[in-house]
Amino acid sequence: MACTSAGKYDPDTNRYSCQVTGDDCMFMRPDSKACAEMFNEGPDSDDGEITLEEMNDLPVESVVGIPCRSCEGHEDHTKLQDGTWKCNNCGDVKDMNTD
Ligand SMILES: [Zn+2]
Repeated sequence: MACTSAGKYDPDTNRYSCQVTGDDCMFMRPDSKACAEMFNEGPDSDDGEITLEEMNDLPVESVVGIPCRSCEGHEDHTKLQDGTWKCNNCGDVKDMNTD
């Protein structure tokens, strides 16, 4: 099983129940990664890529894991007053709207 939030299998609906939404799982075969990408739900929803829109909506001081050019990997970045993101690891400032 590829989703830790998938609950009981219901042979009537052919679906697993979902512990996150309390509803039936959207997939025939529970897939938490696909769920996070498509619905931003499930146990993987916080680890996936965040959209630019979502990042612009976040308040100052929010911390989000995004790719850092200097660190060559995902690092936590903190949102600054001007809407740019500063790498918590190397201090590199990234402007998501121009990069
Ligand atoms: Zn960095």
